Amino acid sequence: MIARKTTRQVLVGDVPIGGNAPVSIQSMTSTRTSEVDATVRQIHRLAEAGCQVVRVAVPTRQDTEVLPAILNQSPVPIVADVHFHYLRALEAVEAGVHKIRLNPGNIKERSQVDRVIAACKERGIPIRVGVNEGSVVERHAGDVRSRQKRRLASDFRSGMVALMVQMLEEYMRIFEENDFADVVLAAKSSNATLAIEAYRAISERFHQPLHLGVTHAGPPETGRIRSVAALGSLLAMGIGDTLRISYAADPVLEVEDAKELLCCLGLRERTGPELIACPTCGRAEIDLVKLTADVRAKLAAIKSPVKVAVMGCVVNGPGEAEGADVALCAGKGKGIIYVKGEQTHTVPEAEMLEALFEETLAFTKRLE
Ligand code: SF4
Repeated sequence: MIARKTTRQVLVGDVPIGGNAPVSIQSMTSTRTSEVDATVRQIHRLAEAGCQVVRVAVPTRQDTEVLPAILNQSPVPIVADVHFHYLRALEAVEAGVHKIRLNPGNIKERSQVDRVIAACKERGIPIRVGVNEGSVVERHAGDVRSRQKRRLASDFRSGMVALMVQMLEEYMRIFEENDFADVVLAAKSSNATLAIEAYRAISERFHQPLHLGVTHAGPPETGRIRSVAALGSLLAMGIGDTLRISYAADPVLEVEDAKELLCCLGLRERTGPELIACPTCGRAEIDLVKLTADVRAKLAAIKSPVKVAVMGCVVNGPGEAEGADVALCAGKGKGIIYVKGEQTHTVPEAEMLEALFEETLAFTKRLE
């Protein structure tokens, strides 16, 4: 059981972030926000996948104008992602969004930042602020470059982490001067080690809830490892109140992976099947990779927590499937089905997939 660090709680619509609330999953639309139908369709797909809070970019007036229409049709709270123009933030607040993401450093005048904070305070809307490696390098270019020249990676990292914390302290002073505490913090990097160190440092320094993320993680093939290394390590340390895994891909994948990560760490209960499969070896007597993919697709129809195992041989399979509720051990031309470790029946290879599905379905029905 992971002991989580308790932070201040904020409410994003009806989703609590921080305090003792479960770690929530966020994602961001990849559509043009002003294209309402496409954006609402994507928000619904994300929500169906398990996303609890969706962020939309609002770079133009056309984007903030359509926010009321999007909010009316969204099943989950919406965050407006604002860069550079404080008026977009004010328009988004006026439209009724549930949270603003904005970095005071990107807004020209301090008075403009104060106006946005005042508007959010009036409506009880939290603000997420963050720093990332890029913005720190931009501000402290000379300092950071001289560290790089010294080729001392750990020194560079600790210097960068200190600069990130310092930047967040500056931002937090602005909020404190406005007597505004509903702030969510983020400190992102594309480097997993730096992200871990940065979030650890801000977790020690601030009481605000933390939004975990890795920037520019890339496509799922590589971004998945980077994200799990960074976010999984932090969550295992009890750090993090909400997360977004981000990929250069369909954002639904982000949500599926975030859910799997939280379930693997015991931070969320499964609502659907958990599939385990042997890695195959020279003893496998079937195309296990294809069978596993087919089983995964078939099990998507089951909405109850059940652990299913697919094993490539009948010799070691039963032992290796230990702990599974329902298991299939495939042999030459046949498959043996096990329920809770007990062999129930043997089916021809052509019927394995259907037999495993039927047995799994029956198992979940018995639990209801
Ligand atoms: S279950 Fe059988 S085929 Fe799969 S890895 Fe183990 S020994 Fe190899």
